[in-house]
Amino acid sequence: MDKPPRPARRTWQHWGVTAATHSTLFPQVPETADAVLDGLDPEQREVALALTGPVCVLAGAGTGKTRAITHRIAYGVRSGRLQPASVLAVTFTNRAAGEMRGRLRQLGAGGVQARTFHSAALRQLQFFWPKAVGGDLPRLLERKIQLVADAAARCRVRLDRNELRDVTGEIEWAKVTQTVPADYPAIVAKAHRDAPRDPAEISQIYAMYEQLKRDRSVIDFEDVLLLTVGILQDRHDIADQIRSQYQHFVVDEYQDVSPLQQRLLDLWLGDRDNLCVVGDASQTIYSFTGATPDHLLNFRTRHPGATVVKLVRDYRSTPQVVHLANGLLSQARGRAAEHRLELISQRDPGPGPVYTEYADEPTEAEGTARRVRDLIAAGVPAGEIAVLYRINAQSEVYEQALADAGVPYQLRGAERFFERQEVREAGIALRGAARAGGNDSLLDDAEDLPAQVRAVLSTKGWTSQPPAGSGAVRDRWESLAALVRLAEDFARARSGATLSDLVAELDERAAAQHAPTVQGVTLASLHSAKGLEWDAVFLVGLTEGMMPITYAKTDEQVEEERRLLYVGVTRARLHLTLSWALSRSPGGRASRRPSRFLKGLRPGSGSLGTIASGGSGSFERGAAAGRRRPRGPVLCRVCGATLTEAGAMKLMRCEDCPSDMDEALYERLRDWRADQARELGQPAYCVFTDKTLMAIAERVPATGGELSSISGVGARKLDRFGADVLAICAGGDGGAGPDDS
Ligand code: ATP
Ligand code: MG
Repeated sequence: MDKPPRPARRTWQHWGVTAATHSTLFPQVPETADAVLDGLDPEQREVALALTGPVCVLAGAGTGKTRAITHRIAYGVRSGRLQPASVLAVTFTNRAAGEMRGRLRQLGAGGVQARTFHSAALRQLQFFWPKAVGGDLPRLLERKIQLVADAAARCRVRLDRNELRDVTGEIEWAKVTQTVPADYPAIVAKAHRDAPRDPAEISQIYAMYEQLKRDRSVIDFEDVLLLTVGILQDRHDIADQIRSQYQHFVVDEYQDVSPLQQRLLDLWLGDRDNLCVVGDASQTIYSFTGATPDHLLNFRTRHPGATVVKLVRDYRSTPQVVHLANGLLSQARGRAAEHRLELISQRDPGPGPVYTEYADEPTEAEGTARRVRDLIAAGVPAGEIAVLYRINAQSEVYEQALADAGVPYQLRGAERFFERQEVREAGIALRGAARAGGNDSLLDDAEDLPAQVRAVLSTKGWTSQPPAGSGAVRDRWESLAALVRLAEDFARARSGATLSDLVAELDERAAAQHAPTVQGVTLASLHSAKGLEWDAVFLVGLTEGMMPITYAKTDEQVEEERRLLYVGVTRARLHLTLSWALSRSPGGRASRRPSRFLKGLRPGSGSLGTIASGGSGSFERGAAAGRRRPRGPVLCRVCGATLTEAGAMKLMRCEDCPSDMDEALYERLRDWRADQARELGQPAYCVFTDKTLMAIAERVPATGGELSSISGVGARKLDRFGADVLAICAGGDGGAGPDDS
């Protein structure tokens, strides 16, 4: 295939300058409508000029779909052919909607509505509810799982946590596919769907759940769309009013539209066809919620007169990254794969993807953090680096490793720990128990602090053994388990500490996390990275079981996992690192295998014809180079047992083994750390984590060598803070400020 000509005009994005840099350097908006078109290649320009009638853009990652539609709207507005208030641009995440509004403003088309389906529907629902139904819109339920549990109990069906999560997912699926409870069993049978329980039982629970919502005057997330659809269907006067306001519709990431969202879009449109959709079937990653790329792929059948544009020039990534992305897709199967377009990079060559195999997870996280730090040292801004993983629960070990490396980070898609709902609820429960003191019957026979915390948190869903499976229930349990561990550490660190002391400690930590941080490295799940881009991307944890995830069983589910990896790969502009670990913990059995999706792509994994040729990419074995951690098992220095938990390895003793910590020293170190963090404008964990401080207070190092043998004290931190810490350990107050060392 001939490479299309490079566009004559290269714009600032071509060179990978970030939008943020651009907006500060060149804040002025294009002077004319025609100037808006200057930044587009011929096909993108075709999209921008097709301002009426149905338009469909089918194109791969990084080809400028989002750019084409924002320029299209801006061109239409600037040329006077579109009224800003008559355009509704819809995307799938709040972040994407926000970004689109920002880009439109930069192009001189502020005032255009760019929203998610949900926020657009919610706004219309709030506005028209009094007229259509009367009174105020019922409260929006944030999580449905408790209500589903209540519904199941009313139906006398016992569900374990895992089943509860699955049944909740099933109700969500039924709602977005507009399946009412009575029809659910028949639809499941017709679709050959693998229901998690007897469909008749699920149908009953689903009906009861709907009943309970009505009784309690709440609506859920899906109801926002369902009710808007219902009102638009039944009330022609209201539908007309909305249609007279919005004349033009633009949908980004259209491959992930659900039947319910499509229904809403149809109702917004009425019998008009001013609809422009853009998408990439190879990036369909929300099928599990009922989304389907069929609407995108069948667009021309539905709208025979549609302008269909294909884009193949990839402006985002280097030929090396694009080669891997194409290789991944060449192994894909299914309908989406039949429509794949080979991407052609427009960028100059860059480094090949790096594949790294690590012995265990903590080493993988440390190795990744070290590379991140090296990139920052080499001039890549922290905000231009991302670490992407399959599930949010993987974030913790990376949070810890980046904190140890002194690299600020931000979590995307998942809230920070202390902002998570279960953590806030747990905090409230602990505060209540602390206030009640010994009078709380829960605490009667639990005298030590960790036991008290376990007792309180067990009312919030904590159990001594984790729930089976993953998902929301597991995430919640993990958060509560982290609080229990924190309480145990705290009690060991401060003997005699009370529940009130712990609550004060939690407040302090929450405040530290909220401290304004400098722009940091992004930690995000692959799902939440959709549509985004960074100069450097680390795809971590690429083992069988994680990628594809264990619960992807059918061929279609496995294909969706492959597309998810494709989404990950195509987020990188320049640097791409793919890594996996052979065992979970140090010294553990190397039983894991790298992801099947990398077969034939990573060096040394067997050739799949032409895919592996091209020779891009290098393979490395990621030893914990430069670290003092011994290879092989780490032993507890108190009892000699093999340590497997990251926290225990940091302390170099079992968390249960007695601590010989100098408590006064620990307090002095904490005070010093708080001062440092304030002066540096960084969260305390970026100076040293609690575990590292504890290890210092236990070992009381007298020399730089001793200090640097403690996990979490790397060369950089030794250089920066070593003198202070040694002075404090020697009995001083470590008076030197951060700039003096
Ligand atoms: P995804 O499928 O990941 O959503 P996309 O197709 O929406 O990707 P964009 O995000 O619009 O792609 O563009 C990718 C990058 O390429 C952006 O940095 C964008 O500014 C740049 N780009 C797109 N088109 C051009 C062009 N004609 N000239 C220069 N840069 C471009
Ligand atoms: Mg996009």
